Amino acid sequence: AKTQERNTFRFYTPLMHADARMRLMLGADLRQALIRDEFHLVFQPSVELRSGRIVAVEALIRWRHPERGELMPDEFIPLAESLGLIRRLDAWTMRAVCNQIRAWDQAKLPPIRVAVNASAATFGHPGFLDSVKQALQASGISPKRVLFEITESAILRLGEATEQTMHALHALGIGIAIDDFGTGYSSLAYLKLSGIDYLKIDRSFVTDLPDSANDVAIVEAMLAIAKSLGMCTIAEGIETAAQHEFLLRAGCAEGQGYYYSRGLPPVEIERMLSPNPRHEPS
Ligand code: C2E
Ligand code: CA
Ligand code: CA
Ligand code: CA
Repeated sequence: AKTQERNTFRFYTPLMHADARMRLMLGADLRQALIRDEFHLVFQPSVELRSGRIVAVEALIRWRHPERGELMPDEFIPLAESLGLIRRLDAWTMRAVCNQIRAWDQAKLPPIRVAVNASAATFGHPGFLDSVKQALQASGISPKRVLFEITESAILRLGEATEQTMHALHALGIGIAIDDFGTGYSSLAYLKLSGIDYLKIDRSFVTDLPDSANDVAIVEAMLAIAKSLGMCTIAEGIETAAQHEFLLRAGCAEGQGYYYSRGLPPVEIERMLSPNPRHEPS
């Protein structure tokens, strides 16, 4: 749908008036929300395909709007980006993730990885590295537990500075994943940059597996590239057993999607990871 939007001439309609007004109002609310702390995180498991074990979770932000109820990132992340608020939002996420990891460690849960999404403006900002170090220091967690997800298009937009940032994060021990891999309409040259640990195959290539011969060919090629570059692979948007089976057989390492689980509140993640699951009082 996004490609279509980009290439289609759009006429100005009364509906867009409403849309603009809505964005304005929501923009004002967004500033308030940062002050009032109206955000929370859900965590979607990432499963090792071979064993079915949860090896990681991805932090996904949600906004509990006082009037509009729970808002999804698609409804406010682009707005936060255009209003210059995304760095503060991503910093909130990073702090919340570090605190969550510390809490899980204290509860003696298995030390899984936690993936954090970072927008281009966040990742490309000169202060990013320091804010990451600060969040790690304040929480005392190991950098090895954190993985940043950067979209392919963000990396391309950022250019030069990206390389240094990725290098520095890598040196700290923080993992880096290329998110939405394959959707950036790019050359593959950036894959030579050091510090990329994971390729995340975009959902658009997974949806029609295993029926679409084209998608089968594309995904197999992506897995081959990752393998030869020594990167780990995660497929996103797995919804069916057939998709799971195909990806497992094709050699993909990990998968995420509704087939395994949606994004869950921390207590449910704890229940899933707990070595001796406690029974619910009935
Ligand atoms: P993403 O990084 O590609 O995250 C995956 C999205 O796909 C999530 O949507 C997830 O709920 C959804 N998803 C997972 N499995 C399935 C599936 O099997 N089928 C379908 N149809 N969808 C699935 P969500 O939570 O709405 O997040 C949307 C996007 O918002 C994310 O896309 C990410 O780019 C962005 N985002 C989320 N949290 C943050 C954040 O803290 N900071 C920034 N900058 N961006 C964030
Ligand atoms: Ca992501
Ligand atoms: Ca993704
Ligand atoms: Ca995606």
